[in-house]
Amino acid sequence: MDIEALFRLAAQSAARFRNAVAERPHRPLRDYAGSVAAFDEALPEGPAEANALISDLAARADPGLHLMAGPRFFGWVIGGSHPVGVAADMLTSAWGQNAGNHTAAPSAAAVETVAARWLLQLLHLPGECSVGFVTGATVANFTCLAAARGAVLRRHGWDADARGLFGAPPITVLIGDDAHTTVFSALQFLGLGHDRVIRVATDGEGRIRADAFEEALSGVDGPAIAILQAGQINTGAFDDFHALIPLAKGKGAWVHVDGAFGLWASASLERRALAAGVEEADSWATDGHKWLQTPYDSGYAIVRDELAHRRAMTIAASYLPLAGEGERDPSHYVPELSRRARGFATWAMIRHLGRHGIADMIERNCKAAAAIAAILGERQDVRVLNEVVLNQVIVRFGTDGEAGDRLTQEVIAAVQKDGQIFVGGAQWRGRQVMRISVCNFQTDVHQAEIAAAAILSALGRVSAEVK
Ligand SMILES: *Cc1c(COP(=O)(O)O)cnc(C)c1O
Repeated sequence: MDIEALFRLAAQSAARFRNAVAERPHRPLRDYAGSVAAFDEALPEGPAEANALISDLAARADPGLHLMAGPRFFGWVIGGSHPVGVAADMLTSAWGQNAGNHTAAPSAAAVETVAARWLLQLLHLPGECSVGFVTGATVANFTCLAAARGAVLRRHGWDADARGLFGAPPITVLIGDDAHTTVFSALQFLGLGHDRVIRVATDGEGRIRADAFEEALSGVDGPAIAILQAGQINTGAFDDFHALIPLAKGKGAWVHVDGAFGLWASASLERRALAAGVEEADSWATDGHKWLQTPYDSGYAIVRDELAHRRAMTIAASYLPLAGEGERDPSHYVPELSRRARGFATWAMIRHLGRHGIADMIERNCKAAAAIAAILGERQDVRVLNEVVLNQVIVRFGTDGEAGDRLTQEVIAAVQKDGQIFVGGAQWRGRQVMRISVCNFQTDVHQAEIAAAAILSALGRVSAEVK
């Protein structure tokens, strides 16, 4: 097999896709059913020639690809798969390292050691923290909360890692009413239950109310975990860490912060104040594939108590080499043994952008979000519903009631059909909203102006039809 020809073919096809970003609409050209039809055939009995097969794969996939890496994709909080991260990720695949331990894959383990230190410095988190390189914030939340579960029970004389939860002292879990759905999933996976929690009331932006938090804590006696948030998925709002963390710690609770995208505010001088006090928590979940722009998938589980982290995740067996003093086995901080060498893409992105480049990108995106909100907010028939403090904008069209819900849905559909930009919808406070998430290295105020114009043009078309 001519490996060089094969890899060149794949790289050329990848480059063609990325170079077409400017011309292609910001939506898939073919839906799911059409995509199944494009791939579906009987199980192949014999081989297919490698080059032809890779060309065929690219051709079959292409119409069903969504331009998530494009500059005007605002659908969900999805990063841009930066070309430098993609190139590092191509090498990662080609190198075929199983990055579970440092003896088997020295470079893969070492690059995580260095990238972990960089991440803590970028995010202004304590240097003693350990970092697990996981698939995303869902698994990062899971990993951090597993460490929390073990630690709070250990303090009450129970070894949950060995004995499980049956017969254990009950853990009180406090969580904001507007926490991300994946945190509830993490609680479910951990046997803590997604409903067996105290949901704490939030304010209009989705921030935990300090008075409600204090009241919820007043009944706590025993093991407890408090889950706070940096960056609400609709509003981008931050919990008040300075007020809440001391209250929780006063009751001996482990404080975990879901900061999938919002934690990156700490990397920007202009936005840092939003996350003030977040470094006082015990654990943090964040993503690489959102604001750091690494390709999918990449998330980080960060835990202050390294031993609690390792006790929750360590996989040991007699045939596996042991890490000694000063060595780090990646698999001891994540739920997998065999795993992708995710550190390479993270290292490459931080090395490429540097501290200043990352801060500039975050600021650029926040300014773009503010620009969209400012343009839309000038209109009588559009309402921006959140304080645009970060990269999130939620808007509604028309009246307060059901007619406004319908109009908002129609405008979203018209924007998607047009394809200049991509936005999605959500329910916020029982009402339909359009969600605009800015999380791409290419998105600046110029792109924001194109986006606002596309939204207003869609509103004009829909309104004309209604009349
Ligand atoms: C995206 C997100 C998650 C889940 O992260 P994944 O990377 O999709 O697993 C959790 N919390 C918040 C606030 C998010 O934005």
